[in-house]
Amino acid sequence: MPVIATIGSHSSLQILKGAKEEGFKTAVITKKPMVKIYDSFKVADEILIVDNYKDMLGEKFKNKFNNFIFIPHGSFVEYIGYENMLKSDLKFFGNSKSLEWESDRRKMFKWLNDSKIKVPKIFNSPDKIDRPCIIKFYGAKGGKGYFFVSDENEFYEKMKKIKDTEDYIIQEYVVGTRFYPHYFYSKLDNELEFFGIDIRYESNADGIGRIPPKFSDKINPTYVVVGNTPVVIRESLLPRIFEMGENLVNASNRFFGGLWGPFCIETILTDDMKFYAIEVSARIVAGTNLYIDGSQYTKLRYDEPMSTGRRIAREIKKGIETGRVEELLQ
Ligand code: AMP
Repeated sequence: MPVIATIGSHSSLQILKGAKEEGFKTAVITKKPMVKIYDSFKVADEILIVDNYKDMLGEKFKNKFNNFIFIPHGSFVEYIGYENMLKSDLKFFGNSKSLEWESDRRKMFKWLNDSKIKVPKIFNSPDKIDRPCIIKFYGAKGGKGYFFVSDENEFYEKMKKIKDTEDYIIQEYVVGTRFYPHYFYSKLDNELEFFGIDIRYESNADGIGRIPPKFSDKINPTYVVVGNTPVVIRESLLPRIFEMGENLVNASNRFFGGLWGPFCIETILTDDMKFYAIEVSARIVAGTNLYIDGSQYTKLRYDEPMSTGRRIAREIKKGIETGRVEELLQ
């Protein structure tokens, strides 16, 4: 049996716990200050310490990693980079090409458009701004540095304070409720499963509603993701949730050879019941950490606690049992 491994961050505790539940040995790759965390939770059979995460790609661990299957998550992709993953001999669960399509915003919008999923309007120039917008920087992670503008003047005013103004988009700000549905597509069974939904807590935007308008008016909303909270959605919206997931999988087959394993479409639902997608995550999202013991939705399908991490391990196990595991690793 291979060892299931990942970098110690993001959703690693859930991934390793799930792998143990499915009978795998596990390993975490981490830096020294984090060792006591992984020691404490007892989900990693082995703790490998690195100075730099990219050391994983070098000669030092080559033999050791022969029998490892790595599970990418958001921080994993950030630390290692999808380009390095595509070049590497390490085995990763999922289609690493999908990580390129989630990382490149132009490709991501093409993917969403082809999937018939609405996206907020993009303004190519500040003088075209005719409604409230959010300014997003390309390299930014987790909403860092994003800001809100209500018109063109505010755009120029706020831009003065930004040092590197090279790469950003001006996107319509969609007013609605955020829903981040978690999916799992089984390549072995050709079936899409819906695992749960979260809403991200974002600071300070989520704090502004707690103070009177005469104070909140003076505060610039920012959208830095700091945590997650569970949510369920109206049952009548489930058909659209499934349709969006299926369309995304079908479009990925046309563009880059498929999307399998966990993924998420970050959406905003407006009061006229339209979903707007603001992002795709082509791997496990941290919102699934809410459901280590299963979600309201996995409880319906499974008679045992089924986290996304455990579902990944179960797919790998089935791949090994049926001689198809290589198809899952790319
Ligand atoms: P993102 O990095 O695109 O996931 O955005 C981070 C956060 O900013 C989201 O979780 C939303 O709360 C907010 N956000 C991003 N884009 C929009 C948008 N077009 N309209 C409203 N809120 C947005």
